[in-house]
Amino acid sequence: MSHAEIIAALKRRMGSDAVLHGREIGAKHHVDFSGEHACAPLALVRPASTAELAQILETCSALGQRVVVQGGLTGLAGGATPQPGEVAISMERMSGIEEIDRESMTAIVLAGTPLQVVQQAAADAGFLFPLDLGARGSCTIGGNIATNAGGNQVIRFGMMRNLVLGLEAVLADGTIVSSMNKMLKNNAGYDLKHLFIGTEGTLGIVTRAVLRLYPKLPTKTTALCALPSFEAAVALLHLLQARLAGGLSAYEAMWAGYFHHVVDHVRGGRSPFGARHPLYVLVEAEGADERADRERLESALSAALESGVITDAALAQSERDARSFWMIRDGIAEITPLLQPMLAFDVSMPIGEMPEFLARVDRELAAEFAQVTNLIFGHIGDNNLHLAVTTGREADMPKICDLVYAATGAHAGSVSAEHGVGTLRREYLHHSRSRAEIELMRRLKAALDPQGILNAGRVVPARPHED
Ligand SMILES: Cc1cc2nc3c(=O)[nH]c(=O)nc-3n(C[C@H](O)[C@H](O)[C@H](O)COP(=O)(O)OP(=O)(O)OC[C@H]3O[C@@H](n4cnc5c(N)ncnc54)[C@H](O)[C@@H]3O)c2cc1C
Repeated sequence: MSHAEIIAALKRRMGSDAVLHGREIGAKHHVDFSGEHACAPLALVRPASTAELAQILETCSALGQRVVVQGGLTGLAGGATPQPGEVAISMERMSGIEEIDRESMTAIVLAGTPLQVVQQAAADAGFLFPLDLGARGSCTIGGNIATNAGGNQVIRFGMMRNLVLGLEAVLADGTIVSSMNKMLKNNAGYDLKHLFIGTEGTLGIVTRAVLRLYPKLPTKTTALCALPSFEAAVALLHLLQARLAGGLSAYEAMWAGYFHHVVDHVRGGRSPFGARHPLYVLVEAEGADERADRERLESALSAALESGVITDAALAQSERDARSFWMIRDGIAEITPLLQPMLAFDVSMPIGEMPEFLARVDRELAAEFAQVTNLIFGHIGDNNLHLAVTTGREADMPKICDLVYAATGAHAGSVSAEHGVGTLRREYLHHSRSRAEIELMRRLKAALDPQGILNAGRVVPARPHED
């Protein structure tokens, strides 16, 4: 079928205003936040309801037409970027909060709702929706579910998977599966929501979700610590987990190279310490009693100082102080443009593997390239490391990827901690997943989407004769 015939078929089914093509499609629909391999979709459809989405998928399925799902396009794995000839389905019109249930402490939310809107609605109702990440203003709940998003508070509340109680999704053939469970306990058969959480739109399109809310935590205490070593960072993590009685909500490590690069290059960047240290950790605790919470953190940090686990610490005395600490942690967004061409890695591994992994990567990068910058930071309490690596030469990028992902695999790690696999990490999946695991992923994909029309070419690596 020609492209014109596919567009005509979609218009017949959905109405001509509902299907955009050619110049009618804004450039934002050509590529996700990775910025790689931008491509205009064949057409753009924007369903306003689950029923409309089901009709679109029924039509595409009948035509054997490939589609790509788009949420807020803040993804960093290329998953929402169209591939040639794909119809893009944007979830932007399926936005809004349908219900806040105070008794169940749940919210029912449409998949295209921006994360920040959900956070605000929860806060207005006196609750906390704890998922939080830098892209909060643009990323959508559907995208967060599809990528099993993580972010800043995973150490306390878990990833998106822990925050979704139920959901509704549409399968590739247009079947609507409603599994809008509100209960914490429900072992009546398979828990089908997990087919759609973290599978990046390859098994179905999420349309609505039941999200878990928590009591609002009114107080926040923030500190920046200077440490002598990685071993000390692990000791501090365990000490804080034990002494803050579950109150630890952020534990962000920054190696000296990253920390000082940000302080030196970002306007307003300032270290509260006179001397330079090997490692820094931003610690945040949240609770309900400001004085008691602060005293608990102060006393834990004093104990850490006395035992030599930390060398120095600065406790934020104001919101401004806390913002200036976070500015260093979030400074990656500002330094990224200055480091191009650069590769941003998002890997995870058992915490005990991290020192040897990092030493191996540094050693192999130095052996391979005359000049290389490797800036390291991460949510180490969640096993997550971010590496920003550049040699200044685009041509070196494939070699750097091979080297870092092979080292990740060798240290029992994952090539994607939280950003997803998409198209950009798909060919590296074998470093983290066995042949049998990848084969099972293929079988699930074939069972739910036998024609392979939904987000094809994402996540699951192709067999040699496919694609
Ligand atoms: C500044 C910045 C900071 C970030 N920080 C973090 C972080 O701390 N932690 C983290 O985990 N991520 C982070 N990200 C990555 C990104 O924000 C997340 O992956 C987010 O969950 C993507 O949501 P989205 O709506 O933008 O999805 P998109 O980019 O539109 O899509 C991502 C994937 O999900 C699929 N998808 C989208 N909507 C649906 C749906 N309704 N049903 C099925 N599939 C769907 C798409 O096809 C694609 O494969 C960050 C990104 C930026 C730009």
